[in-house]
Amino acid sequence: MPPDPTPAPTPAPGAPRVRERGDACPGALRLHSADDGHLARLRLPAGLLTSRQVEVLADAAEALGDGRISVTSRGNAELRGLAGGCGAELAALLAEAGLLPSPTHERVRNIVASPASSLDGLGAADVQLWARELDERLCAAPWAAALSGRFLFVLDDGRGDVAGLGGDVTLVAAGLGTALLHLGGRTVRVAAADAPRAALAAARAFLTAARGAGTGAWRVRELPEGSGVDVRAALTTAGIAAEPVREDMREAVREDMRKPVEEPVRESAPPHGAPPAPGPLGPAAFHVLAPLGRLTAAQLRALLPADEVRLTPWRGAVVVGAGPDRAPALDAAGLITRPGSPWAGVSACTGRPGCAKSLADVRADAVPGRPGLPVHYSGCGRRCGHPHGDWVDVLAVPGGGYLVDGAPVPRTDLAPAVTTARTAPRTAPRTTR
Ligand code: SF4
Repeated sequence: MPPDPTPAPTPAPGAPRVRERGDACPGALRLHSADDGHLARLRLPAGLLTSRQVEVLADAAEALGDGRISVTSRGNAELRGLAGGCGAELAALLAEAGLLPSPTHERVRNIVASPASSLDGLGAADVQLWARELDERLCAAPWAAALSGRFLFVLDDGRGDVAGLGGDVTLVAAGLGTALLHLGGRTVRVAAADAPRAALAAARAFLTAARGAGTGAWRVRELPEGSGVDVRAALTTAGIAAEPVREDMREAVREDMRKPVEEPVRESAPPHGAPPAPGPLGPAAFHVLAPLGRLTAAQLRALLPADEVRLTPWRGAVVVGAGPDRAPALDAAGLITRPGSPWAGVSACTGRPGCAKSLADVRADAVPGRPGLPVHYSGCGRRCGHPHGDWVDVLAVPGGGYLVDGAPVPRTDLAPAVTTARTAPRTAPRTTR
């Protein structure tokens, strides 16, 4: 993730953040100039790619970029090393493949959905279908183009795998034909059939609140205290019935879910569950991780044949239509196919040479970790793309060394330091996104 070249000044304690201008997030049509060339970020709602789109993306990476595709923590795709003048050619390729349905909305199609939904018998609804409907409605709403490129919709099928990814609007399938809509610490229940429409209405209510506050907020959490979003009023205006979550309804909701979430439904927080492990997902889908979050064009093509490919927020892909027998071929392509792989859960920011802020080539310095404990390498204190939840923090420092969870470690000693890093969960966040 490139640094934001126009960061807002840090607000005084207790004061609301004031954004003087729109966000500078790159897109498919707005390229970002980085030290290794230009960068394009392609929004893929629910990470979805058809087989044809997989081919086009791989071809574009080879013909116009550095031959690689980065998978972001929102399941989007980035092309790097692009020539400055290739924007029109890239846009034409993407548009022809159906990857640019609305040029005016291309940066606001930020939709993460449970990637294994409908594939493994878990979950209470097929949120991949919700994602497609939400995307169509989003692109058809002229006002929605005013959302920032950072505003995020999260659609969780009830297993809790993506609900904790920090969505501005989070929908969680809740059984009994209902969904819980979370926004800014409030939760309402809506009919599942209304869920995508409700998410869009909630986003519109956010924009109204942001304009009313006058602070230029890009995300719900940036709204000043007291300028809450009136979700229920927005849903009523949109003709959507909604009710606050009541204590006496929660048990019935949990009983109906095919896989109950780990924690009781709470009014202010969506459920948290583990992401699926790499490997087979049911009889006809396979989950792979991209080493350090990057695929070569050949690795992307190795996902085919597939009914469809879903890039994931864990920097991998779910290959729909691939059975367990595909494991040897996916392995041979250099993809991570087993939960026991020491590279599963290891991630890194762009680092050198792509990012001028970086103190090291963190991707070259990264070493295998310990299965089950995410490790993230960062070239500077921004820690771009770090995982959610608990993880081992490996931070480059001047002079060529690193801090591993705050302890100084020479670059040559990273392997023992990372594999013996503490196992107790961290209790406090250490950085901002
Ligand atoms: S060095 Fe890494 S963490 Fe720092 S701004 Fe660059 S990409 Fe982000």
